Amino acid sequence: MRRIIVTGALGQIGRDLAARLRQLYGCDAVLTTDIRNDQNETALSGPFRLVDVTDGTALYEAAKDHQADTIIHLAALLSAAAETKPMLAWQLNMGGLLNALEAARTLGCKLFTPSSIAAFGSGAPKIGTPQDTMQRPATMYGINKVSGELLCDYYFNKYGIDTRGLRFPGLISYTTPPGGGTTDYAVDMYVSAVKTGKFTSYIGKGTFLDMMYMPDAVESVIKLIEADASRLKHRNAFNVSAMSVDPEAIASSIRRRLPKFKLDYRIDPIRQAIADGWPDAIDASAAREEWDFCVKYDLDKMTDDMLSSLSGMPLYGEKTVN
Ligand code: NAD
Repeated sequence: MRRIIVTGALGQIGRDLAARLRQLYGCDAVLTTDIRNDQNETALSGPFRLVDVTDGTALYEAAKDHQADTIIHLAALLSAAAETKPMLAWQLNMGGLLNALEAARTLGCKLFTPSSIAAFGSGAPKIGTPQDTMQRPATMYGINKVSGELLCDYYFNKYGIDTRGLRFPGLISYTTPPGGGTTDYAVDMYVSAVKTGKFTSYIGKGTFLDMMYMPDAVESVIKLIEADASRLKHRNAFNVSAMSVDPEAIASSIRRRLPKFKLDYRIDPIRQAIADGWPDAIDASAAREEWDFCVKYDLDKMTDDMLSSLSGMPLYGEKTVN
């Protein structure tokens, strides 16, 4: 049975992931931590501790006291926020990761941390972006992510620490507002569709980006953590995606349920420039081959669930679509 510490656990991924981990491994086995405590369900449903990941001693002590064998490191500044505060992004994204890796090395823990489709950059093929290809990102977030992948490989190769990661696409969910990423527009579109029936997108028509629904993201983290190490040729980090969509595709999917939904555009040049540097559609075949990655939600199924859930009527289904 695992004993897990999660950093940044009150964020968009952490809240859904911690709930699922507690279901699987037991409430007391999962210590959630964050720099803040807003007394939400994650902090209240099991052990919680305030931990600033830039404080290496605090992170180490929390993992040690919990007798953790697995560190899930989520605390980070996301793409759009990182572009407005690049120095903070470097300190948090690189300093926090280094502290988590050092805690893993000292305590002999396994470590999972997400990378992102931001780790590629405009030199990589935009369609069918391979698992192994040129990675030369131009944003601070992308630079942090590719450096983080290399650092995790280094700890595996030099110290034998079992590091694993996923290059997440934009993640869509309804339980927690997203934390300053470029693909947040998609979540905002669903929320606005339900609340007002219209949305002004800051990402342009025809800008295709990879996305995935949060229940699939959560299951892929757990599947990778539990994957047989002898099958893994890659580690940090696997391409994963469920769909490649632009704002019009999401709007069309919403209109199946809300025919009067209106979409218009006011482009944010900063977030559009970030999106333009990312792949349109990545190739997730390495994840499928090495640890049986699969998803349950395509665009329409995700839309149905988002709209129902946002209207207070959850509707989870079971069918696998890839
Ligand atoms: P989020 O912004 O929603 O949550 C991050 C959490 O970290 C917040 O709860 C915040 O309070 C906490 N935090 C901030 N500074 C901290 C510090 N110094 N010490 C401890 N905690 C701190 O982010 P998320 O969407 O949950 O993302 C988690 C990870 O997944 C990040 O590495 C992110 O880059 C990656 N990722 C996310 C997405 C996505 O669409 N959400 C996509 C690709 C990759």
